[in-house]
Amino acid sequence: MGKVIAIANQKGGVGKTTTAVNLSASLVQEGRKVLIVDIDPQGNTTSGIGINKGDINECIYNVLVEEQKAENVLVSTSMEGLDVIPSTIQLAGAEIELVSAISREMRLKQALDRVKDNYDFVIIDCPPSLGLLTLNSLTASDTVIIPVQCEYYALEGLSQLLNTIRLVQKHLNYDLMIEGVLLTMLDARTNLGLQVTEEVKKYFGDKVFETIIPRTVRLGEAPSHGESIVTYDPKSRGADVYAELAKEVISHG
Ligand code: ADP
Ligand code: MG
Repeated sequence: MGKVIAIANQKGGVGKTTTAVNLSASLVQEGRKVLIVDIDPQGNTTSGIGINKGDINECIYNVLVEEQKAENVLVSTSMEGLDVIPSTIQLAGAEIELVSAISREMRLKQALDRVKDNYDFVIIDCPPSLGLLTLNSLTASDTVIIPVQCEYYALEGLSQLLNTIRLVQKHLNYDLMIEGVLLTMLDARTNLGLQVTEEVKKYFGDKVFETIIPRTVRLGEAPSHGESIVTYDPKSRGADVYAELAKEVISHG
C-alpha cells in the first residue's frame, strides 16, 4: 500500500520543496515508485523536477476543484519511477473556489485513494499556509514531515502547525502521525545552527530525523536546471544526505 507523506510548514523558505523533490528522487534511487503531488500554486516542485508548465493541460487545480481523476492529470518525469501531479498558478484560486464545495477538505484524499497503491510513496509538497490546500494534504496523508530551518525563530509558528495537525487528527484524519521533524539548511560553521539543532531536539525528542540537511551550493542550484540532486550531482554532499533521509523514511516502514 502506498504511504502518503505531506511535507508541511506554513513558513516559506524552510526547505519543503527541496525536500519533496530530493527525498522523492532518492526514494526512487532506492528502488521505490514515487508520486509527487505539487499542491503549492507557486509550482516550484513542478518546475524543479523538470516539467515545463507551458506543456501542462491540467493540474492539481482540476483535481481539487473539478474532481478530475488523478490518473488523468499525473505525468511522468525524466526519472523512471517518478511521476508528478503538477501545479500551475491556476491553483491560486482554488482556496476560495473550494470554500463552498462539498467535502472540501477531502478532495485530495478522494483523488489519491484511486492511485496511491500504484506507488510505494506519495509525497505532497504543501504551500506556505495553513489554509484549505494544506488541510487537504494533511487529510490525505498517513504522516507528515516538518522541515525546520536551522535559523533564529526556528520554532516560531510550529505551535500553530502542531495545533492544525491536532485538529485534523480530531476531525478529519484520526490516523495522521508525525513522520519526523527535519532540520534543514544547517550551516555547521556557525554556533547558531548547532544551538537551534539542540533546541529542536529538546522540544521534539526522537521525532527529529537523525539526518540533518546542510546548506550546500549544489542543492540550491539543482532546481534551476530542472533536476533533483540525484541526477544533477549524484556525488555531492546534498545527494548523500537526501539518500540517508530516504533510508530513514524507508526504515520507519
Ligand atoms: P519552501 O518550499 O519551504 O518555501 P524551498 O525548498 O523552496 O523552501 O527553499 C527555499 C530556498 O532555499 C530555495 O531557493 C532553495 O533552492 C534553497 N534551499 C533549500 N534547501 C537548501 C539547502 N539545503 N542548501 C542550499 N539551498 C537550499
Ligand atoms: Mg515550496
